[in-house]
Amino acid sequence: MQRGKILQPDTQRIAAAIDALEPYMVRTLSDFVAAQSPSGAEQPAARYIEQAWRELGLAPERILLDDAALKALPLYACPCGPDDGRYNLLARHVPAAPGGRSVLFNGHIDVVPTGPAAMWSRPPYEPAVVDGWLYGRGSGDMKAGIVCAMAAYKALLDMGLRPAGTVGFNAVLNEEDTGAGTLATLNALSRATARARLEDFDAVIIPEPFGEAMLRAQVGVCWMFVDLTGKPAHVAYMGSGVNPIEAGIAVMADLKELEAQWNAPEHRHPAFADQPHPINFNLGRIEGGEWNSSVPCTCTLGIRFSFYPDMTPEAARDIVAARVRATVARLNPALTVQLRWQGQFAPGCEFDLDAPAMRALAAAHEKATGQAPAKLACTATTDARHFRLMTDLPVTCYGPEARNIHGIDESVSIASMKRVATAMAQFIVDWCGVAPAPR
Ligand SMILES: [Zn+2]
Repeated sequence: MQRGKILQPDTQRIAAAIDALEPYMVRTLSDFVAAQSPSGAEQPAARYIEQAWRELGLAPERILLDDAALKALPLYACPCGPDDGRYNLLARHVPAAPGGRSVLFNGHIDVVPTGPAAMWSRPPYEPAVVDGWLYGRGSGDMKAGIVCAMAAYKALLDMGLRPAGTVGFNAVLNEEDTGAGTLATLNALSRATARARLEDFDAVIIPEPFGEAMLRAQVGVCWMFVDLTGKPAHVAYMGSGVNPIEAGIAVMADLKELEAQWNAPEHRHPAFADQPHPINFNLGRIEGGEWNSSVPCTCTLGIRFSFYPDMTPEAARDIVAARVRATVARLNPALTVQLRWQGQFAPGCEFDLDAPAMRALAAAHEKATGQAPAKLACTATTDARHFRLMTDLPVTCYGPEARNIHGIDESVSIASMKRVATAMAQFIVDWCGVAPAPR
């Protein structure tokens, strides 16, 4: 080796360093999953990750969630709960000498509700490894991806190397309901209220569990609450009442017709031409009624719907709202309906995977796995939209294979985590460069 020249580690050496970190990855992910963090109450996981990053030699700073400061921003969505003093965590490795290119790993620490614990094979917050899969709520979506990025960084440290560019880690709240967490960090980065700056970063990777594919497009997503009021009556005189729950069922049946129209091949956005059913209208919650023998007073539907990147959330909202109002008017003039727009209000978008950083990530994946990564058009939203629509930074999602996310017995493949961590470390080597650790 020449004086002053660093021998770049080859992929085999990186993979071996990641392999040695399997116990670290399993332990870290298990503790991270056990630190319960449903959207709106993520503090246990935030405290856990703050400590885990300190152990990597990083100095995480807290980015406070402040709804009032986000209201004027373009991707703002009305929150489903209070700020409650909650915070994102932002940390970065800063190189000894400036010069290398940089990357930000952005991941959400919030998770969706578990559903009845009795439906799980084992308690959802007591992680366990079975046949190479780590089980628990949030294991796949997306605590594993955050752990992959940590392992990639740690592997380089363990090899006596330091990234030659900035490597950032951003752990955010509320990805599952509004995207407010990533919005808060972007706001802090661009308004210089964080120690880091937006200019510190050249590329963004969001390690969502998309089976080692790179995200090339995602749908837009809105949440809508439909509050229906009817006319209560004794069931003996049912004809004198108006049933808002039955009206809610009719509203949803009509929206399913709109869903079918948007999914029709002739209406597909080209990025989603290969998806069998890209647009999903989901009745996720229903509340209402008081008594089996009473025509109910009220019904509330919690609906999530999606739309293509060539439609704005405002346009999608107006179309859906008009359908809901028309159905209710057609059913019975005694019904009243109010629509609340709380939660996701996210435009769809496409991502430029030909940007140099994205090509470098694809090449790193190929070195780690022997295959070019698949390119995914996602039928859900991700925080990648914030970087795509509010900054010039190239961004994609790239993370491990998971099963049953948002379902029962969620799990993530440990072998896939190691491949992703290897590719991430390789990406840091290729994109940021590495230098020997100072003696
Ligand atoms: Zn996710």
